Amino acid sequence: MNTKDFSGLGLIEPLTRAVEAQGYSKPTPIQSKAIPELLDDADLLGIAQTGSGKTAAFLLPILQHLVQDGGRPSRKGAIALILAPTRELALQIGDSVTAYAKHLRLRHTVILGGVNQNPQVKALAKGVDILVATPGRLLDLQQQGHVHLGDVAHLVLDEADRMLDMGFIKDVRKIVRSIPNDRQTLLFSATMPKEIVRLAEDILYEPVRVDVAPKTVTADKVEQRIIHVPAAKKGALLADLLADEALQRVIVFTRTKHRANRVAKQLGQAGIEAAAIHGNKSQAARQRALEGFKSNAIRVLVATDIAARGIDVDGVTHVINFELPNEPESYVHRIGRTARAGADGMAVSFCDPAERDHLKGIERLIGRRIAIEEHTLSAAAANEDSPPQNSKKSGKTHGKRPGGGKRRSGRNRRRNRTKAA
Ligand code: AMP
Repeated sequence: MNTKDFSGLGLIEPLTRAVEAQGYSKPTPIQSKAIPELLDDADLLGIAQTGSGKTAAFLLPILQHLVQDGGRPSRKGAIALILAPTRELALQIGDSVTAYAKHLRLRHTVILGGVNQNPQVKALAKGVDILVATPGRLLDLQQQGHVHLGDVAHLVLDEADRMLDMGFIKDVRKIVRSIPNDRQTLLFSATMPKEIVRLAEDILYEPVRVDVAPKTVTADKVEQRIIHVPAAKKGALLADLLADEALQRVIVFTRTKHRANRVAKQLGQAGIEAAAIHGNKSQAARQRALEGFKSNAIRVLVATDIAARGIDVDGVTHVINFELPNEPESYVHRIGRTARAGADGMAVSFCDPAERDHLKGIERLIGRRIAIEEHTLSAAAANEDSPPQNSKKSGKTHGKRPGGGKRRSGRNRRRNRTKAA
């Protein structure tokens, strides 16, 4: 046994067995650093984005605490609470709990907005060991008296910066105020804007800080390219690129929901299987699009930044930024959707003259210039603004084929903390 494998981190056998069944051979950097500290009851500030393995980094030690501490949840109560900004992310965390807790006898449930609350109320009635929730629905159910948080001993805020972007921080603070101070608290965020620094100071107690900088992700794993193109030719350029079959599983990012719809529609008209995913779509439509994408029935997912936060699909070969984001951090989030779990990936960004300043901001953030690729539009594409019918390759090779009862020890110290959320 060494510290390079999961059992060397102090995890019990039912958890290491479940992790092996997932095909993880060794812990990711955030897992190696965070798991021993969390098993030792520390609070944690994790600067990490999706793709780093952060979900297992927080779930595995929490599951172990739940088993070893042996307490049972009271009616309508929960012992561990995980807050996630989007419904997709909440569902994925729920799936991870199912996978990692396979050999344990623990109850968990996921509650989220946009769907009927009755099954959620029913699932909560007996109490759960782990509750995964989006903030709005949780507050709503709390106000109706269907859930109480007085038993919560482990609290995780996942993707805190995205909660801020989505306007959830007030709700989050309200929820935290209803949880006892005597708890273990974990906060994960890909970026640390001022408000998140303040939130972390308010709710974490002497946290261990683990920073797995997204910069390494962008620099090391994802091959990045910029194509300068007039805005009116972006649709044609996209169809041109997609004529190359090496772009097997592609996420296209737009800035607005409206543009996402339009791009998906144009691709559909050009015979390319595509679906849009954004906040105006119903939960059922978003799930359908994601399932289709995972099963390869849909080749191109057209997404806005917020909707994309929870997309956890391995094997995304290419990310295409149809429009550059105005926040440079979003660029890092976006391209982190490819090159996950050790695979390679490619990110191609379209930049029209009005977006040059966004590009500069991105290059400043990632600390390097992105290579420019010259692309000559195919004859069909050059003559029109919308994607041509399944045009053949323009001769330019974009297609890189990526390889493819609660534990009290250590927590008593929190009793004296004076700060509330
Ligand atoms: P996350 O950052 O938690 O969203 O995880 C990103 C992806 O990495 C998920 O598909 C996980 O299943 C996968 N993953 C997590 N930990 C490991 C590991 N130690 N080895 C390989 N893949 C992992």
